Amino acid sequence: MLDKVLIANRGEIALRILRACKELGIKTVAAHSKADASLKHVLLADETICIGPNSSAQSYLNVPAIISAMEISNAQAVHPGYGFLAENADFAEQVEKSGFTFIGPTADVIRIMGDKVAAIDAMIKSGVPTVPGSNGPLTDDAARSKRIGLEVGYPVIIKAAAGGGGRGMRVVRSENELINAIQVTKAEAKAAFGDGTVYMEKFLENPRHVEVQVLADGQGNAIHLGDRDCSLQRRHQKVLEEAPAPGIPEDARNGVLKACVDACIEIGYRGAGTFEFLYEDGCFFFIEMNTRVQVEHPVTEMISGVDIVKEQLLIASGEKLSIRQEDITFRGHSFECRINAEDSTTFMPSPGKITAYHAPGGNGVRVDSHIYAGYTVPPHYDSLVGKIITYGKDRDAALSRMANALDELHIEGIKTNTELQRDLVCDTEFRKGCVNIHYLEKKLGL
Ligand code: ADP
Repeated sequence: MLDKVLIANRGEIALRILRACKELGIKTVAAHSKADASLKHVLLADETICIGPNSSAQSYLNVPAIISAMEISNAQAVHPGYGFLAENADFAEQVEKSGFTFIGPTADVIRIMGDKVAAIDAMIKSGVPTVPGSNGPLTDDAARSKRIGLEVGYPVIIKAAAGGGGRGMRVVRSENELINAIQVTKAEAKAAFGDGTVYMEKFLENPRHVEVQVLADGQGNAIHLGDRDCSLQRRHQKVLEEAPAPGIPEDARNGVLKACVDACIEIGYRGAGTFEFLYEDGCFFFIEMNTRVQVEHPVTEMISGVDIVKEQLLIASGEKLSIRQEDITFRGHSFECRINAEDSTTFMPSPGKITAYHAPGGNGVRVDSHIYAGYTVPPHYDSLVGKIITYGKDRDAALSRMANALDELHIEGIKTNTELQRDLVCDTEFRKGCVNIHYLEKKLGL
């Protein structure tokens, strides 16, 4: 078992990791920026190290500072959380080269999944269903691109192989826009990601976002923990998630779950991971794999009973997966509402001092949050201040609990999106289930 873990992240996920470490008897080192000295997990950690000033670039993204912090504190491993360096293959490589353990997959696997063209290629080889498309980079051969466009059928979407965060994509509705769109996307991708490689996919008009959680030990064993629906998004940012995804036929679900497990074994995956799919008309289409723990992992924990972060730590300790697929029984339904420090209508960030805070509670309610009364939300980072997660024996029960929990939540001093979340859980269409990825933006009039 690992003896000491350095947490290279902040906010709710850093606290989540700290809790898992403590339960396993692992000592913790909180590596934090100057602005974050009063974060809850920093106050609770066994040791703390300031790794740089407020800006992420000089602290949470500062690889030499993090590696030095591991050396100084004698930590054996680093947990990157999500965001920041969590999917940075060079960081993972440098950690391992310096003699430490990166809690996640090998650098090689992160690199493949970070290149969407390579990732799609790996998925096709493993039998995971992908979006019809160029299945490889587009070249400067205009006739070839047009041929692929005709085969795939319009509308199509041009995507950057190195893209992320919903950037580097362009929808093309007819052939006469194609060549220009490829050139513009290439130039943008080159400027934004340093890599101008682009590829083509069929553009799905009204898909849902459904993803599959996996755990693998890199020693030939892998399991899935079911699926989640994260279709409620604004600007490609998830707002409210649930597990399981409602209304999926059992054969389609079982097929995709098995394909994901097979792919993990095929690619030698290690750790927790998520296969993201677009789901339309009963079919799944792979879009990308996230090689880290996700914000929405709690909804899966609620219905599967598996502690995903503890499993990450056990796998990083070199243990074989102790859970077999047949040990897992999915029970009930779970929702997660992300609480952001932002205005419910304008979405402007709202950092500042929290003057009063009451968290919801009761049966089937879980709150993953680092905030407390007197805590000041700094303006330098992501606006997520917490997640309200509810469980119920079925979808309606979990939703009713969420409505209660949101009513009980009370945060003063900063603005939050709680009002929007309250509105969403009462929304007639959402309550029916199965809304698509455009639903929230349409509702907001965007
Ligand atoms: P990123 O890494 O930037 O998040 P993704 O490949 O995951 O990129 O795509 C982000 C979002 O873009 C998806 O959640 C979906 O809303 C939209 N999108 C991507 N590919 C397609 C497609 N083929 N058809 C329709 N929408 C798509």
